[in-house]
Amino acid sequence: MTCAFSTRLDTVAEAIRNGDLRTAKFHTTRLLADADPHTSALIAACVDTIERFPRRAVVHLRARWKAATTDDDRAVIAAFGQAARPAPEPPTIRRSHRTAPRDLDTSGRTGEIRHLTPERRAALRIADRAIPPEPAVEEPATTDRVYASGLDYDRAAVPALRGTPCVRCWTERTREDHRADGDDGLCGECRDRGRPGVPALPPGHTRADAVQARCAFLAATYNRPRALLAQWWRKYATVADRVVIADWVQRNPLPTDPGPAPRPRPVVPRVTGRCERCGDHADQELCVHCREVDDLTRA
Ligand SMILES: [Zn+2]
Ligand SMILES: [Zn+2]
Repeated sequence: MTCAFSTRLDTVAEAIRNGDLRTAKFHTTRLLADADPHTSALIAACVDTIERFPRRAVVHLRARWKAATTDDDRAVIAAFGQAARPAPEPPTIRRSHRTAPRDLDTSGRTGEIRHLTPERRAALRIADRAIPPEPAVEEPATTDRVYASGLDYDRAAVPALRGTPCVRCWTERTREDHRADGDDGLCGECRDRGRPGVPALPPGHTRADAVQARCAFLAATYNRPRALLAQWWRKYATVADRVVIADWVQRNPLPTDPGPAPRPRPVVPRVTGRCERCGDHADQELCVHCREVDDLTRA
């Protein structure tokens, strides 16, 4: 390898290290003009690797370096490997609010902390303490005139629903009903009545699995699942759940236009009837609860 070639190689490596891929490309073109076909191909492959895998380029280049047969090839690959080495990640300040201060890895932070100004230190403290805001609940526009401060005390006094409502009767569920090891989506009363809920998931499933199962259950159970999923997304879902719901809807397209609402069928009283959907006692095809839910989702 000539001295001029190696100097140009260093220039390219320096540009890549600085994240300036434009300059790197410019010098690479000149480098390629001088190099023999084999080295040109090697350089082009290295640049291609760095462009395609900005974060994992070092791993790919290391494999290529091991497979190289000549010292010249290794030198070229090593120059790009050095350049592609990612900048060290800044130390984590706090992984979550559940991490106790004693469990924080503060090694390597001393220098950084020493150079913090009091203002920056305060800003970091505030950012560390900040709790992500609750998703805003969209209120329908109202024409009621509100006086004084504009705060509607009646509405403000209504507590927000905690967690997701029961998939059968749509009332708020207790903390015990939201079971992390397998949430059937039911409230205690519906469970006691033996109403079918979200099918059980295998042990060790993730929260995303549970959210997807609830989506699938709502889609399979109700005529107009789109309205229910939209209501869930808007009112009860956490930010992470919203991503899962949106993803599920993308992958499982719901009918866009369900067509006109079915006409109410003539009521045929049955003496010992059972609800077709939940198995509850019913004097019609569906029990009172299921009919109410249908009316809600039809609206
Ligand atoms: Zn219920
Ligand atoms: Zn029913």
